[in-house]
Amino acid sequence: MPSPAYRGRLAPSPTGYLHLGHARTFWTAQLRARAAGGALVLRNEDLDGARCRPEYVAAMLEDLRWFGFDWQEGPDCGGPHAPYDQSARLELYRAAFERLRAAGLVYPCACSRRDIAESAAAPHENGLGGGDEPLYSGRCRPENLDAAERDRRTAWPRAGHSWRFRVTDRERIQFTDTALGPQSAVAGETFGDFVVWRREDLPSYQLAVTVDDAAMGITEVVRGADLLVSTFRQLLLYRALGLDAPQFHHCPLMLDEHGRRLAKRHDALSLRALRAAGRTPESLRAERR
Ligand SMILES: [Zn+2]
Repeated sequence: MPSPAYRGRLAPSPTGYLHLGHARTFWTAQLRARAAGGALVLRNEDLDGARCRPEYVAAMLEDLRWFGFDWQEGPDCGGPHAPYDQSARLELYRAAFERLRAAGLVYPCACSRRDIAESAAAPHENGLGGGDEPLYSGRCRPENLDAAERDRRTAWPRAGHSWRFRVTDRERIQFTDTALGPQSAVAGETFGDFVVWRREDLPSYQLAVTVDDAAMGITEVVRGADLLVSTFRQLLLYRALGLDAPQFHHCPLMLDEHGRRLAKRHDALSLRALRAAGRTPESLRAERR
């Protein structure tokens, strides 16, 4: 029996116009919330200050309404877990980060993007399509530093470098996806120590969504299969923070005519462009490929 306490969420990021791929995944989220007699939360994932723009937030709300989405809590209608804009929730993320730091579960990483690319091992092929980011070498792990450098770093502030969550090498992490069935990954092989706090003094995606999904009482996360590897990272964060993890439901990604993942650069498939071309939400929802 579906649980009446089901809580799902739509979590778009206003870095461009929503495209049909997002809408398809979100539609699955809405159908599952409705089928369970549950609630749907809209969360505005606007932490990327350089790329998020207010006009995209307004467009996002308009495009979602046009497509037929209907949420019960969100930045435009409020709710018991307000605010629903991530940029207004920084205190919560900082508190979670400080808990991880106090527990000795994170360490500062001074590597540049280039250092990481050059020293990274290729993620093992494991049927998950490899890693979604380079496998971090562990070069800033405290035991890989000399004593003087280790001491120096204990005085480092939160900002100015990133902070990585330390995984337990060779630990197998498993969960049952409500779409894909049993899933399994090995820490240190499928993915390595991952960033939870960014040098710009902001939480990483991994930390922010974990904190929010727990705080907002989300019971099932429906999202694209490109985030499957991230789910293992987030499961480690739920455990480290003593939070109950939701269920996960990963949807196949929509591909373009060349078999590539749709991205926001596919302007012709933005909901705005489709609407301007005379497409109706009904026809877009019914179309499958
Ligand atoms: Zn490093």
